[in-house]
Amino acid sequence: MGAAGSKLEKALGDQFPEGERYFGLENFGNTCYCNSVLQALYFCVPFREQLLEYYANNKNQGDPEENLLTCLADLFTQISSQKKKTGVIAPKRFVQRVKKENELFRSYMHQDAHEFLNFLLNELVDILEKESNATKVSSETSPSKKIANGPCHPQANGIRKEPLVTWVHKSFQGILTNETKCLRCETVTARDETFFDLSLDIEQNSSITSCLKNFSSTETLNAEDKFFCDKCCSLQEAQKRMKIKKPPSILVIHLKRFKYIEQLGRYKKLSYRVVFPLELKLSSTVNNSDLEYSLFAVVVHVGSGPNHGHYVSLVKSHNHWLFFDDESVEMIDESTVQTFFGSAQEYSSNTDHGYILFYESVGGKS
Ligand SMILES: [Zn+2]
Repeated sequence: MGAAGSKLEKALGDQFPEGERYFGLENFGNTCYCNSVLQALYFCVPFREQLLEYYANNKNQGDPEENLLTCLADLFTQISSQKKKTGVIAPKRFVQRVKKENELFRSYMHQDAHEFLNFLLNELVDILEKESNATKVSSETSPSKKIANGPCHPQANGIRKEPLVTWVHKSFQGILTNETKCLRCETVTARDETFFDLSLDIEQNSSITSCLKNFSSTETLNAEDKFFCDKCCSLQEAQKRMKIKKPPSILVIHLKRFKYIEQLGRYKKLSYRVVFPLELKLSSTVNNSDLEYSLFAVVVHVGSGPNHGHYVSLVKSHNHWLFFDDESVEMIDESTVQTFFGSAQEYSSNTDHGYILFYESVGGKS
């Protein structure tokens, strides 16, 4: 411990970014799924800043009840306020809290990093929504009086209650439109749904761009899969497609590398080579706009099967690429990122594959 840290400090030398901290995270028995996601989120700078700000504001409020949000904020604050530039931190309280909140993560078995990320973001949103409701209620009554129970009154002045947009939403939330066109009357039915990440089906020797294209390609609903058209009042053949209506500021892409194979009766890991570019253009899927994204973190699954293996992460910070493997942190060349694309052959000795990709929007051009 520590040795890897000082090596990193030497490697960065004068270029060590002012105020930045690079800390490995201790593993508490197969908690690499958690560590790899935490590093990606820590280096998601808008998210980190909001979380640190939340923590700073909340500390002055007195008695913050411990929850996953306070544990995460506490951990990030602990990392960012370290005197040393590098080292190792034990995310003990956070991991304990995760296990307490969700029995799925209680065992020492290998867990899915994407499931964990999903659980974490939704949990943070739930906590922020509850807090917002609580402050609304207490501000409607005397400020000194704590509300123990009672219904949460919707605003009395007739304003429709909009769903709360938290800073978690502001970073990660995008909107998809699911369009279905009845082939008889040509009526288009559109249904919006929000997302925190996109789960993409993958193919051998493909790229993120082609996976995104497949994701929003037109699908025909026919035979036993017909669509009930409200206008025709009957089942009709239809065309369906998904479009990204509002791209998120942080685009998280989950590659579906774990596939259930019916003949085998179990999940199999797809080691397919899927190229993920450092700069991604989201053009074909968005109406009339070209959004540019830059890759800043990759959660990598190491191993050949779905039930065992290891997770590490690659992170870009101040134009340097770093490799986080639990306690250890190393600097890597940008060109190393492409060794995590996957394998063009089915059996390969390289089992380190990009699994969750984190892109940040770098301003839109039309
Ligand atoms: Zn119709």
